[in-house]
Amino acid sequence: MAHGTFQVPFPVNEPVLSYAPGSSEREELQEMYNKMYHQNPIDVPMYIGGDMVRTSDKRPMTPPHEHGKVLGHFNYGDASHVTAAIDAALSARKKWAAFSFVERATIFLKAADLIAGKYRSKINAATMLAQGKNCFQAEIDASCELIDFLRFNAYFAQEIQAVQPESSEGIWNRTEYRALEGFTFAVTPFNFTAIAANLPACMALMGNVVVWKPADSQMYSAQVLMEIFREAGVPDGVINLITVDGPVAGDVVFKHPDFSGLHFTGSTAVFRHLWKTIGENLEHYKTYPRIVGETGGKDFVVAHSSANTKAVATGLLRGSFEFQGQKCSAASRAYISDDIWPAVKDQLLTDLSTLKMGSPADFGNFINAVIDRKSFDKIKSYIEFAKTQEDCEIIAGGGCDDSVGYFVEPTVILTSNPKFRTMVEEIFGPVLTIYVFPSSEFAETLKLVDSTSEYALTGGVFAQDRYALAQANEALENAAGNFYLNDKPTGAVVGQQPFGGARGSGTNDKAGSALNLLRWVSARTVKETLVPVENYRYPFHS
Ligand code: NAD
Repeated sequence: MAHGTFQVPFPVNEPVLSYAPGSSEREELQEMYNKMYHQNPIDVPMYIGGDMVRTSDKRPMTPPHEHGKVLGHFNYGDASHVTAAIDAALSARKKWAAFSFVERATIFLKAADLIAGKYRSKINAATMLAQGKNCFQAEIDASCELIDFLRFNAYFAQEIQAVQPESSEGIWNRTEYRALEGFTFAVTPFNFTAIAANLPACMALMGNVVVWKPADSQMYSAQVLMEIFREAGVPDGVINLITVDGPVAGDVVFKHPDFSGLHFTGSTAVFRHLWKTIGENLEHYKTYPRIVGETGGKDFVVAHSSANTKAVATGLLRGSFEFQGQKCSAASRAYISDDIWPAVKDQLLTDLSTLKMGSPADFGNFINAVIDRKSFDKIKSYIEFAKTQEDCEIIAGGGCDDSVGYFVEPTVILTSNPKFRTMVEEIFGPVLTIYVFPSSEFAETLKLVDSTSEYALTGGVFAQDRYALAQANEALENAAGNFYLNDKPTGAVVGQQPFGGARGSGTNDKAGSALNLLRWVSARTVKETLVPVENYRYPFHS
C-alpha cells in the first residue's frame, strides 16, 4: 500500500563510457569478454513461470565473427512451450496487474542500476559475442540505451498516471490506467539488446504479463537480460522467455482468446504477416489487441551544395557503417550535390581506407562481422548484383569473406540511376548507395527522396543554407519519423529523440516515450458522486 504520492527519480541519460586505452572500463570489459569467450559452453533454458525449461533440441550460439566457436546452446521449444508460457503469464497476471506502480517501477529501476553497475561489462561482452558489436556499439546499446529505457519509462509512466480528468461539484472523476486484459506478446530483433529488453519490460512496467520471443541470434545476450530481470525482482511468470520458431509461436499466440497486445520490432514483411494473422483471428479475442511494430528502413542522407563536406563524409561513414549498417536507422542511400561530391568522395574514401575490420575482441576494429549466414548471403547477393549492372560502380569495398566469420567490407555503390535497386530496398548491411544530383535540382531531388522507397524511418539533411534546410524539412515531412538536420540519421537517444517511423517502417509509437507506454494500458474512467441524488425530479418539474 502506497501511503504517499511518490516521485520517480528524475531520469538523466546514462553517460557513455569511452573505453579509451588505459581506462578501467576497457580493462574490465576485455577481461569479461575473455572470460565469457573461454568459459565452458553454457546451456540457456527457456524461462516459463518459475521453471527453467530445457529440451533435447539444442541450438548452438556462435559469434558472428567466428562461426566455428560454440559459446553454448539454447533449448528450442515447440507449441507446448508457447502454451505453457501463456498459462504462466495468465497465472501471474492478477497479482502483477494489481501490484502498486511504485513496486513495479522499483523493480525496473533496480534493473537499470544493476546494468549501470555490476552487470555492465557482462551485458556488453555478451552483446559483443552474440551480435558482433564492438565495445562502443555494445556500450551505447546494451548499457546506456537500455538503462535509459528503464529509467525514463518509469518516469513517463508516472506522468501518464498523473493525467486526470476534471471533476465538478460533488463529483470526483478519476482515470485508472489498467493493464491490458489478457497477456501480451513481445517479438524482438537481433540487432539491439536494448530493444530486446525494452519491449517486454515496458509492457510489464505498465502491469502487463508477457510472453517474450527473442531472435535466435540474440539468445546469448537475452539470457543475461533474464538473469538481470530476475535479480531485479521481476516475479515468475511476468516475463516468460521462449525460444520457439516464430510461426510456431504465432500460431498458438494469435489464436488465443486472451491475446491482448503485440509489441514487435523487426522486418516489415514479418510485421505485415503478423498483423494479417491477428486480423484473421479477430473474432477469437476477448478484447481488440494492441499492435505496435517498429520495422524496416531505407534511411537517407541528402547533402545540399552548401553543406559542410567534412560533416557529410563523416556522417555517411558513421551513419552507414557503424555496426555494419545493421541498425534500422543506418544510412543506406545518399543524394549528394554534384558541386561538393569530389570533396565528399575524397574524404569518404580516404577515411574508409583506414577502417580496420575483424573481431570486436580487438578494440582497434571499427568494422565487425554481420550477424549470420542468411544475412551474409543476402548482402553478398546485392553486391554481386551491383557488380553486374551498367548503371552503377562499386567505388569502395565489395569484398565478402565468410571463412572465419561473416565479414563484408564497407561497400559504396555509386549509381547514375536514382531508382537503382540498392537505392530502394532494405539490405541491412554495410552497403551505401550514392546518387549525385545536379546542384540546380535540389527540389526535384527532395521529391525523389520522398518517393523512392516504401519506408519512412530516418533521414538526415546537410546544408549551411537555412532556406535549403527549411525547404527539405517541409518537403520530407512524411519521409522520416526521425529527421536530422546536419547530423547522421542514427544514434537516437531515449528522452531526447523518441524513435520510430511511419509508412512501411511501422506504427510510429515512439519507443522510449509516453506515446509507446500509452499503448500498453487500457484506461478506465471512474465517476464517483459523493452525495447521490435521491429524487428523480429536475427543477423544471415544478
Ligand atoms: P526479423 O523480422 O527477421 O525478426 C524479428 C523477430 O521476428 C525475430 O524474433 C524472429 O524470430 C521473429 N519472427 C520471424 N518470423 C516470424 C513469424 N512468422 N512469426 C512470429 N515471429 C517471427 O528481423 P531481424 O532480422 O531480427 O531484425 C532486423 C530487422 O528489424 C530490420 O528490418 C530492421 O530494420 C528492423 N528493426 C527495426 C527497428 C525500428 O525501430 N524500426 C529497430 C531494430 C530493427
